[in-house]
Amino acid sequence: MATISSVKNAFLQGRWTPEDASRLYGIADWGKGYIGVNNAGHVTVLPTKDPARQIDLHEVIQGLKERGIHTPVLLRFNDILEHRLREIRKAFDDAMADQAYVGGYSCVYPIKVNQQRHVCEQIANLAVELNFGLEAGSKPELLAVLGLSATAGGPGVNGMPIICNGFKDSEFIETCVLATKLGRNILPVVEKFSELELIVKHAKQYNVRPRIGIRVKLSSRGAGRWESSAGVRSKFGLFVSEVLQAVEYLKAHDMLDCLNLLHCHVGSQLYDIRVLKNAINELTHIYCELHRLGAGVTMLDIGGGMGVDYDGSQSAWSSSINYSVQEYAADVVYRVKSVCDDAKVPHPLIVSESGRAMVAYSSILVLDVLGTSRFEANPDMPAIEKAMKAETEVPQPVLDLLDTYRSMTDRNLLEAYHDSTQARDEAMSLFSLGYMSLPMRAAVEQLFWAISHKLLERAAKKGELPEEFESLPESLSDIYFCNFSLFQSMPDSWAIDQLFPIAPIHRLNEEPQRRGILSDITCDSDGKVDHFVDKRVDKKSLELHELREAAPDPLAASSLPKGHGHEPYYLGVFLLGAYQEILGDLHNLLGDTHAVHISLDSSNHWEIDEVIEGDTVEEVLSYVQYDVADLKRAMRQDIEAACRQGRLTFAEGKSLLKYYDDGLEGYTYLEE
Ligand SMILES: *Cc1c(COP(=O)(O)O)cnc(C)c1O
Repeated sequence: MATISSVKNAFLQGRWTPEDASRLYGIADWGKGYIGVNNAGHVTVLPTKDPARQIDLHEVIQGLKERGIHTPVLLRFNDILEHRLREIRKAFDDAMADQAYVGGYSCVYPIKVNQQRHVCEQIANLAVELNFGLEAGSKPELLAVLGLSATAGGPGVNGMPIICNGFKDSEFIETCVLATKLGRNILPVVEKFSELELIVKHAKQYNVRPRIGIRVKLSSRGAGRWESSAGVRSKFGLFVSEVLQAVEYLKAHDMLDCLNLLHCHVGSQLYDIRVLKNAINELTHIYCELHRLGAGVTMLDIGGGMGVDYDGSQSAWSSSINYSVQEYAADVVYRVKSVCDDAKVPHPLIVSESGRAMVAYSSILVLDVLGTSRFEANPDMPAIEKAMKAETEVPQPVLDLLDTYRSMTDRNLLEAYHDSTQARDEAMSLFSLGYMSLPMRAAVEQLFWAISHKLLERAAKKGELPEEFESLPESLSDIYFCNFSLFQSMPDSWAIDQLFPIAPIHRLNEEPQRRGILSDITCDSDGKVDHFVDKRVDKKSLELHELREAAPDPLAASSLPKGHGHEPYYLGVFLLGAYQEILGDLHNLLGDTHAVHISLDSSNHWEIDEVIEGDTVEEVLSYVQYDVADLKRAMRQDIEAACRQGRLTFAEGKSLLKYYDDGLEGYTYLEE
């Protein structure tokens, strides 16, 4: 006898569940416990990885909309950021406890990864408790970091390490030297020899014993996209021979005890842990030698590079990493300890500059889909026939395509494919030579897409996809037009083909029936996403839901056609916290999106901590030196003239001017 639950299971079988969606989009793989899906089919954020504490993203977007904050919007989760920092702290604490390492660990946050004040302030405040620090790579960053570290923890109590990388001028170094006198734990890291001379000069001038770091060019190469950050050809650091000269130079000035830190940086997003192990090995050997030569070294700075598993595959390729935070920590501690123990050198304070790994998880962009364009499976036959009748002579490729379309069977799929591609190519050359009408060209397109759809469907039914058909699914996938700028919000997707996980944030209890690529609202054909994360394959289209017609609004009295004929459909782009905000640009004058900080209150309701409004049109125009008052004046004069000459009524003129003024104050993205 069937029990109720088995009946229910049978009923549920074959039905799409949120778990299916989670699997499809790989949410558990790349979300690493921070991202989930709830029973309502909405994406959730688990800021502390605790399943009892979840934020429903769709609810947040609805709530923001009620408050007049529209997509695209960047959501930042301070609690995720805090959780990540604690996770890194704990991974190193555990590794050091396990291996009896006594030197300690500190992570300094390189603010170049995300300099937004709200992000940096939170890190600076946590840094006091976690014994972390900050890193600056340029003059403006140094000034920001000096200010940030002054407020964190209260004035005068703050010894957090401040590491200064990058090229420095005399003023930069003078600032570092004076900050030492102020009581800061600041370490300028020598990238080229002349910087050392400046440090010594200013130290003498102000009678300060500065703490000095040296970046060394290792012979170990990095790996992947940023491999040139290390190696002897790298832009930064001293050759080993120069390191020795630096030792002599400091000794001659009686400052060898000031040489406190040795640094290297082997590149970002190190996907293979072996690369790191080799570099640490070499770096620690140099450290031990410096110790032996009498330098006052106490800190070993292994740079950044701890990666993020963007695609969830845990593998050694550029969108992923083949290690966990725990493994990273254990390997670093092990290498440093074994080399130092062998050389009988005291364990140094290990410093890492892990930027990406700290902040990537904490930001999510939510954007709305404006509409779609698709390559239809069903040609409009009556229209095609009517168009053919209007021709004096129907071009041969059209007849061929029609024939192919009608005569396709399971057995001649490959033949049909070849015939249709050939007919399409012939048609296109006829058209460009002026021998084909526009209606006939339209018929060709429709028939070709229809044949391709049929081919794909039949091949899938047979369970085999001939090699030649492999590009078909992507060339037939829909285009989803999305309200965002790739260049502003995910520039690395364009610049270096970085993959970011993308998924709808709702409707996950419905099976997605379409496949599509995403296109942004810039006029740039590069403004599209056509590669998606997947654990196994190079995925060139994303499973998406059909846009649903919006229910007619009973309150809308107007009989004018509506612009947005569909229910809102929202997509989330995840792991955007590192590098994207600051690398984003103003292509097409699309500015910063709104950014909203979200957290959970003690009763598990989401709340808004902070709203940072996106750029207005006025702001982006002023970046490119427009004077908004001038623009308004010019428009007003032109409208005034048009009204006087009767081309516009005064009411129309007034409306146009109002749109212009409102537009200048408004968001740079499309608004409902
Ligand atoms: C960019 C940079 C970092 C940060 O690297 P991540 O890969 O984000 O951890 C650290 N140190 C230096 C010197 C850098 O240039």
